[in-house]
Amino acid sequence: MSTSPACLVSSVANASLRFVQRGYPVYRCTSCGLEFVWPIPGPAELAEYYDRGYAVPLERYAAAGARNAARIADIERFCPARGRLLEIGASYGHSLLAARERGWQVTGVELSPTASAHARQELGLEIYNCDLQDAPLPEASFDAVILWHVLEHVRDPRAQVLRIGELLKPGGFLGLRVPNIESFGARVAGQWWPWMCPPAHLWFFSRTTLPRLLDSCGFDILETRTLRGDGNNLYQYALMAAGNWLNELRHSLRPSPRASDQRARAAAAPSGAAPVAAVVGPPASRDGAQPSVASPPPSGLMQRWLHTLERAQPITNAMARGTRWIVEPLEKRGWGDELLVYARKRRPAQAERG
Ligand SMILES: [Zn+2]
Repeated sequence: MSTSPACLVSSVANASLRFVQRGYPVYRCTSCGLEFVWPIPGPAELAEYYDRGYAVPLERYAAAGARNAARIADIERFCPARGRLLEIGASYGHSLLAARERGWQVTGVELSPTASAHARQELGLEIYNCDLQDAPLPEASFDAVILWHVLEHVRDPRAQVLRIGELLKPGGFLGLRVPNIESFGARVAGQWWPWMCPPAHLWFFSRTTLPRLLDSCGFDILETRTLRGDGNNLYQYALMAAGNWLNELRHSLRPSPRASDQRARAAAAPSGAAPVAAVVGPPASRDGAQPSVASPPPSGLMQRWLHTLERAQPITNAMARGTRWIVEPLEKRGWGDELLVYARKRRPAQAERG
């Protein structure tokens, strides 16, 4: 077939198509496991998408004050002296506000005009409302750079990381949070994983691919962790997987008699038009829960199942809280949806080595 796209991390041009989600083909590199949308949507297409549909409510950020502060406190384990901090994708500025209160000198870059205006006017923060590459920031001037759920959105993560390397002082700190494509949820929910959402997310990293990218851009890895993240929980995903599995089962139970039926009709039909009618079964049962071998294709049923799960989330959240001692260690052991990587810019002497 046609040549497959070259991988951002391994440079190997041997990626296989996993599925098409929301009209965007998602590939998996067979060499390193990086997953990505290909072709990468153009800047105009992404700008239109963000203008139209993608807005995180201000209240949700403002309410997360304690979490924002905890995240800053966490990076201070590696930056006890604090100093100058740059946040890329600063949103409404609440993380930077928390950092400023903890003694950092803060600067932000944010693409959204609304969010950056809020950060400037309401919080008095220094925010550049532009792409990182266009922000007039002095090189080798920052002690730390953070990107919380940003790298998976950008068209060229490598260019972004290299630019961060220029902006950091030697030995400067880089903190990243991205979705974890090797999480339990990503594995069992597949394309129904909530973070599998192109064109917002274009790159899907793992505990191996993100450190590898950073290493090739001149960073040493300090720490790699997985966490639960903001989305669903393991119970939710288990139910999602069960729904998916039942769908598959229904599929596998169905084909033999129907396929032969279809072939018989196709043989009898004078043109290729008849088989299309043959695959349309009786109408779906109203509740969608009865496993009937004569039901129409499962996508509608799966959608209803996902919708039910959404409403059941308070229950599974309560279950997750009640069994935190079981669930949390698993989420930290690679099952969690969120991947956190801390790295340090290599000093010149170390860079020569490799
Ligand atoms: Zn690769």
